[in-house]
Amino acid sequence: MSKPSAQTDETSFARVIVDLALDREFDYRVPPALTGQVKIGSQVLVPFGRRTTIGYVVDVAGHSEYHEPKDILRVVGERPLITERVVKLARWMADYYVAPLEQAVRTLLPGVVRRSGGRFKEALHVFAGDLDHAESQVRRGSKQEAVLRILKEQPVMLVSEMLRAAVATRAVLRAMEKKGWLKLEKRPVQRNPADGHHVLRTDPLPLMPQQADALKLICTAIDTGKPPVVLLFGVTGSGKTEVYMQAMQYVLDAGKSAIMLVPEISLTPQTVERFRARFGDVIAVLHSHLSEGERHDEWHRLQKKEARIAIGARSALFAPVEPLGLIIVDEEHEYSYKQEEAPRYNARDVAVVRGHMESCPVVLGSATPALESLQNAAKGKYAMVRMPHRVDHRRMPVLRIIDMRMEAEKEGRLNVLSRDLMEAIRQRLERKEQTILFLNRRGYATSLICPSCGYVAQCRHCSVAMTYHKAAHELRCHICGDVRKVPDQCPKKECGDPAFKYAGLGTQRVESVVAGLFPKAAVQRMDADTTTRKESYEEILGAFRRGDIDILLGTQMIAKGLDYPNVTLVGVINADTSLHLPDFRAGERTFQLLTQVAGRAGRGDVAGEVLVQTFTPFHAAIQAARRLDYDGFFDQEVEFRRQLFYPPFSHLLCLTLRGPEEKDVIHAGTALMKQLEPMWAKTDVRAAGPIPAPIARMKGLFRYQIMARAARTSTMTTPLREALKTFRWPRKVKYAIDVDALSLL
Ligand code: ADP
Ligand code: ZN
Repeated sequence: MSKPSAQTDETSFARVIVDLALDREFDYRVPPALTGQVKIGSQVLVPFGRRTTIGYVVDVAGHSEYHEPKDILRVVGERPLITERVVKLARWMADYYVAPLEQAVRTLLPGVVRRSGGRFKEALHVFAGDLDHAESQVRRGSKQEAVLRILKEQPVMLVSEMLRAAVATRAVLRAMEKKGWLKLEKRPVQRNPADGHHVLRTDPLPLMPQQADALKLICTAIDTGKPPVVLLFGVTGSGKTEVYMQAMQYVLDAGKSAIMLVPEISLTPQTVERFRARFGDVIAVLHSHLSEGERHDEWHRLQKKEARIAIGARSALFAPVEPLGLIIVDEEHEYSYKQEEAPRYNARDVAVVRGHMESCPVVLGSATPALESLQNAAKGKYAMVRMPHRVDHRRMPVLRIIDMRMEAEKEGRLNVLSRDLMEAIRQRLERKEQTILFLNRRGYATSLICPSCGYVAQCRHCSVAMTYHKAAHELRCHICGDVRKVPDQCPKKECGDPAFKYAGLGTQRVESVVAGLFPKAAVQRMDADTTTRKESYEEILGAFRRGDIDILLGTQMIAKGLDYPNVTLVGVINADTSLHLPDFRAGERTFQLLTQVAGRAGRGDVAGEVLVQTFTPFHAAIQAARRLDYDGFFDQEVEFRRQLFYPPFSHLLCLTLRGPEEKDVIHAGTALMKQLEPMWAKTDVRAAGPIPAPIARMKGLFRYQIMARAARTSTMTTPLREALKTFRWPRKVKYAIDVDALSLL
């Protein structure tokens, strides 16, 4: 670095990050020919080393620290792909979550938008020419006549569609072009995923008092910016979605745009249709089931303000909408808002930050708010409205706990379904009502256990038990996907017992038990194994909606957001699976899951019944769920968290190190901790580690963790960032930083 370069114009230099995963910004000169075109957020082509690469402008300035930076070659696309505000948000994320800025910017742009540099796919279109003249000339019954007939209905269309519709060849079209009857021309195509199906429009419903109160508060926030965050705490079926829609209408009427986040799993066509029915093409949907092309076009429809409401999973938070009038995060407690790779951001929390930066209110909605959110409301940081009643005052479902220990004693053996649950299912079948059975585990049995020596079949690369899949008669690792043959006898040399036993329960096993007990019922399983194809999820739900399935059985996938009035029974096969995770949030998770699952029952005219099978019937989370007592659960849980200085009273940082050699991982962890501890010790940080992670080996790599807690995140991350600048990592040891970690495995 020598003498700084300077020019008078404030935009003579650009700070650019390149698409090469380097945690650095580079300075470039804006050549006179590009003056005025390079803005924050612009995508640019720059020389880099001996090649050229795409980069994003993250700042512009009148001077540079560097001597004679290279010139930007050209600007890609007509307008910046990201706004200056979104760049600011990326900076915040990179800082808060201790991630490279380049990675944060990468998160903001769908891959396909980044790669295509703002260009649209082009395709050949047919345009109607002199049709009257053509009609007088064309031979009756010919292909040409068929084409003309179609063109009269639709004067512009894709060539590919025309060929299909008229059953004609390109030669036919070319011949017609020569006569001036039509024109063939390349034009950008817009792929609108809603094309081809029309939905009946709906009108806003007259609101119930609790909804009207909620809407009023949100509209005040939209008008005045206060309160900045509204926590909408409404039971399942209380009419939250209707409130969201009317708030969005209010935003549109004010000439602004809105973003609504929905957990990926709830983003079903059914959900999307509800919004399309109200808002039509003003809606753009961003989610992973779209093809790359569709995602690209939806994104650009928002950017061009053709669409003004973005609905999508986590990353829809970064949709290019301006001016932003409202952000809604539905099911804000959902863990899927947390991204599992760097930057490990939580879209709910970043939504609050984006709202703050753009002076737009944020609504967080849930039937079971995260403890963090409720605590923020209790402290007055968020405003809270409660909607405790279901629409039309339908009754809440009745939850019954079934003690499986007593059941086993009574029956002399342990059955998959208790007598009560069996009887309840039988009644539904008789009355032609539907049942949902919920289980947290796919596969047939959890694991393969030798009854003589206790040997458990474990994955060779991960320290977890393998899961038995009956249909394929094989063992699968649910972490790395490894597959193994089922051994004929216990592989332990000194044992060799051929009487292997299957312990635990998986969805496949429950399916075969249920099918055996109710041979006439239509039973369908839905889990990661039956929904590998993109459409199968929708197909199964469609069949369930039509009533073709009597009993739907599945994992988490069926716990969320499904609304089928004919479901009057929900059975939870084993409520304990989520309780025994090595995680201080296990209780909260179980409570939320049971409440959500229960919400699936009885949304029609019949009150629903929920039967929960458990081996720990007196656990606080299960008891609170039985009473649908959120407040009781909250008070008790918050006290426990306070005493142990866990979130929401602290922020949690989890640093995971991994590598193929255990001693290298331990060595690196110990050395890093040695550097951090003196800095952390001066503050309120409580830290531990390196200790083996609960899943101590994954995909062949050893894993150790350093855990830290502090009232403020920066107390932990500032020293960490400092230490990382100079820390020398042993070869092959990698690390992951998770700020506000949700999964501790
Ligand atoms: P939530 O999102 O809280 O689960 P929804 O908004 O989906 O609740 O409402 C549940 C059901 O009640 C939906 O079928 C919805 O159409 C209906 N609903 C909502 N608000 C009203 C209202 N004010 N009047 C009549 N029906 C309503
Ligand atoms: Zn594995």
